[in-house]
Order: sequence, then structure tokens, then C-alpha cells
Amino acid sequence: MALLDVQIEQMALHTEYPVTSPEEWQSLEDRHTSGVYTKRPVVVVRGEGAYVWDAAGRRYVDCATGHGVALLGHSHPRLVAAVQQQAERLITCAEAFYNDRRAELQAELVALMPGMERVFLCNSGTEAVEAALKFARLATGRPGVVAARNGFHGRTMGALSATWRPEYRRPFEPLVPGFSHVPYNDPAALEAAVGPDTAAVILEVVQGEGGIRPADPAYLQRAQELCRERGAMLVIDEIQTFGRTGRILACEHYGLEPDLICLAKGLAGGVPIGAVLIGPRVGKLPPSVHGSTFGGNPLACAAALATLRTLRKDSLPARAGELGAWFLARLRALSLPIIREVRGLGLMVGIELRRRARPYLMALLQRGVLALPAGPTVLRFLPPLVISPDDLEFVVQAVADALQAPPPAEGEGEDG
Ligand SMILES: *Cc1c(COP(=O)(O)O)cnc(C)c1O
Repeated sequence: MALLDVQIEQMALHTEYPVTSPEEWQSLEDRHTSGVYTKRPVVVVRGEGAYVWDAAGRRYVDCATGHGVALLGHSHPRLVAAVQQQAERLITCAEAFYNDRRAELQAELVALMPGMERVFLCNSGTEAVEAALKFARLATGRPGVVAARNGFHGRTMGALSATWRPEYRRPFEPLVPGFSHVPYNDPAALEAAVGPDTAAVILEVVQGEGGIRPADPAYLQRAQELCRERGAMLVIDEIQTFGRTGRILACEHYGLEPDLICLAKGLAGGVPIGAVLIGPRVGKLPPSVHGSTFGGNPLACAAALATLRTLRKDSLPARAGELGAWFLARLRALSLPIIREVRGLGLMVGIELRRRARPYLMALLQRGVLALPAGPTVLRFLPPLVISPDDLEFVVQAVADALQAPPPAEGEGEDG
């Protein structure tokens, strides 16, 4: 605790603002932040492994991990060393030039799925989706995109057009033309929607933001067949599933071979990055049709390499599969009346409640657990893959406790 006070004091020394309390950091942000986020009242100042600490020195088990980003936990020594070393060597280098770290990362990413040929690097999930949709239109010369209800693919205009939730879309219409949405896990609806104008079908293997809904294996197989038969590209959005579901790619569970795979979130362990794996049906992409200033920058590439190598070296995807199955079973065994369903794959777990989720997120926070919503009634848990069984058990107890406590007051604001 004393050490933490010293660290916070040092942080305060690095700012021009005379901040003396957690509340003041909060009000400083509240005064200047865009306003587009629904915030929870914690000032997170430090992380280590599965824990984060707030400015008052309180420790939390982190099942939010920056929206599932910190796959290796916070400040993993190998990730820290890779970023430090690369920062000293070379931080930036655009793709107009070659770079050693980028070359290594591209080779490792393409090797993630047999048959993949190339990779486009960018900086976030929504950018990966934009690129995949543009590549699908280029490859097919068609405009149409079929996406799923409850799907989430990002917030920029193209990705938002593939995203389902009306609250995210409506204020920004008209969106990109040519997009349609079909019920998830309904092969007949997909069959009816994919036609001669369809450039791409875009799907998540487990819908994340839409409520932690895993796909039926037969549905994904049918999607792949339909795309092949009808000349469309299958785009699989693995932005949230990456590393978490028991395999590095969730596609591997289903024997899928998509034409385009979107990655981001945990790919560099918390450093911003996005990537699109490009398969043979996409064909050659001509120069200058797409690009990104920061895409493939050496710092992010070094972080992604350290993350991929640590995932493999420490068998973290397998660990996520085993721990996740145990966590799911423990949560299901709670069988509380307020729980409608517990769903998930690996360490990507949702509890659908019969009530609104947001007040229970606050109740969990008070019990030392950070979690996320996934739609109005689902509690979402995206812990780091290094979390200990004891810490997961602590989360189970906190959930049991929070869900059995008298119902908290309904929170205000939206749910995302
Ligand atoms: C988070 C997410 C995105 C968007 O990623 P950003 O980095 O926030 O742009 C897209 N698709 C899925 C499945 C996601 O979970």
C-alpha cells in the first residue's frame, strides 16, 4: 500500500494538475472526455497479472481486461520487455518500407491458419473489418454484405453497417448501402439472403458484444458452403474470440477455412493492433487500393510477436479452454432464479439475467470484480488467460453474492 502511494505521488508529479484524490482524476476526465462512454466510478492506475488497482489502492480481479484485450494479464514481463526493447530500437516505420519485426509477424500470422496467404495490418478491430469488407468487394466486384442479428463488428461507417444494434446505427444513418442482417444460427435465412450480389457474409464464431452466443457448428459450415457455391467471401470476425476459446482461432474448433479473418483486441496483449488474414479466394490486391499510416508499425508488431509466442510457449489457449469449462460449470451450478442462461466458450463467458445487467456490474465492482455488459441483460467475463483458479473461484463467489443480494437500484444511461 505504501509503495502504491509513492507510485501515485510520482504520477501526480508527472502532471501539471494538482490532483490529490481519486475523485479529482474522475472529475478531470469528466470535464474533458468526449462523453460517448458510460463510465464506472473507478480510476484504474496499475495492473499486474489478473489484478488492477484503483487510485485509492483497492485491488480488483479484472474480468474486463480492456474489453478482453489483456490476454496475458497486465504488464506481462515478456510483453513489457518486447515493447521496451522495440521502443529503444525503432518505434515507427510505415509499410512503404520493409521492417524486420513486421516481416516476422506477418509470417507468424499467416501461419495461424493453413491456406492463408497474406495479411493486412492496421490498428483496431473496426479497421480490420473495414479492410476485410473492402477486400471482399474488390475480390467479387459485388456490393452486398450479409451480417447477423446481434452481431458486432465495430463503429466506423462500414463496420457499423455490419453491426446489428439499432441504438448504435440509427443516429448515423444513412449507412453504407448493400448490407442486410439475418437471424444468427439460422441456415435457411442465410440461404435466402446470399445471392448474386453478395460480396461477403460476415459472422462472429461466438457473438461477443451481442450477448456471448456461440454459433452452431453446422451453421458455420453451411455459411462456408454457401459462400463457396455462390461466389461470396466468408469473413470471420475473430476480434474478440482470438486466443480465448480454447484454440488460438475459434475457427479451429469448427474446421472452418474462411476467406478473410479479422483480428484485433488481444492480438498484441493490449497494444493497439488489427489484422486481416487473407485467403486464396480473395486473389491479388492491387497496390494503393487500401492502406494505413500506423498499420504494421514495429512497436505493435513486437508486442503481437511477444503475445503470440507467450500464448504458444505457455499453452495459454488450452489453459483458457480448461479453465473456461470449469468456470462455466461452476456458474451453471449456482442455478439462481435470476440467471436465465450461462453461455460461453473458453474464457469468454456470459451470464444472461432475467433483469438488467448494469446494476449487477456495480454490485460486482463493490465486491472487487470488474466485468462487462454484453447487451442489456448479459454479464460478460473476459478474464486474462493467466488468471489463477483461486481468482476465478473468487469471481464465482462474488457473482453468487452479488446476484443473491437485494436487487441494486437500476443504473442510468445505456448499457454498452
Ligand atoms: C471489439 C470488436 C470489434 C471492434 O473493435 P475496435 O477495436 O473497438 O474497433 C469488432 N468486432 C468484434 C467481434 C469485437 O468484439
